[in-house]
Parts: sequence; structure tokens; C-alpha cells
Amino acid sequence: MNGAKASLLLVRDFVNTFDAETNADSLAESGLVGRTELAQALEVREALRALLMAHNGLAADVDGASRLLDRAARRSRLTVRFASGAARVHPRRGLGGILAATAEAMSSPDWPRLKACRADDCHWAFFDEARNRSRAWCDMKVCGNRQKVHRYRARHAA
Ligand SMILES: [Zn+2]
Repeated sequence: MNGAKASLLLVRDFVNTFDAETNADSLAESGLVGRTELAQALEVREALRALLMAHNGLAADVDGASRLLDRAARRSRLTVRFASGAARVHPRRGLGGILAATAEAMSSPDWPRLKACRADDCHWAFFDEARNRSRAWCDMKVCGNRQKVHRYRARHAA
């Protein structure tokens, strides 16, 4: 797996430390960020989710999310380092590591493929491997069908 793909999947896994369906938050136990960074990490996580929602055609405050990430990056003292003819963003651990992975993921052509599920009560992050980037749901069987049922009920209730 190349560095960009690893970064994309790390961002996905970080966003998915919150499961809206069960209301379970596993960020503290994930080991991805330090205990003292937890409050800030929650804000970063939801800012990232907003960007992934925008990738899926949902309304999201992209500028607000970008400003929040920018402030968090300054606080984590993100820097670019060169080694072996390649650039990497540092630090590589903790919340700074998540932000570094985000910067690397964003410079990948696959960044728009990282999306948040279109279902209002889900917004689970997934990597859209479809050739035409058309995937809207984290899982067609779960959220795709649920949405169809909602639409069906709304139509027939009217
Ligand atoms: Zn979903």
C-alpha cells in the first residue's frame, strides 16, 4: 500500500471512531490521539466528516472545517520533511499525525473518493472504489435500502 492510500485509510478510520448508529465513540480507546488532545481531536474529527460529506454532495461548511483544521495544524506544528527524495508531513503520531495524514490524503487524486455516507443518521466514512465515484452509501444493503424505505413511506403517506 502506498503512502497516500495509507493516509486516506487512516483519515477514514479516525472519522469512524464515532458510530452514529449506535452512538458509540471509540476515539479515547482507539489510541490514535493522546488523552490531552481528546477535546481538540473531536473537533478535528467532525471537521473532517464535514469535508467528506461535501465529497458526497451533502451541504457542509467546507470553509469553516478548513479553518478549524488550519488552526489545529498550527497548534500541532505541522512541518514538511524531505528524506530519500520524498516529502512527508510531520509529526507522525497523535493528533498531529492525523493532520499530517490528512494533508497527504488531500494531495492524492483519490481524496474526493473519501466520502461520508449520505444517510442523515449515519455519515460513516468510506472509500469509494467505484470507477465513476458514484457510491453514495456506506452500505447499499443498510443505508441505501433504509433511504429507499424512507422515500417510499414519505410518498405513500402523502
Ligand atoms: Zn451509512
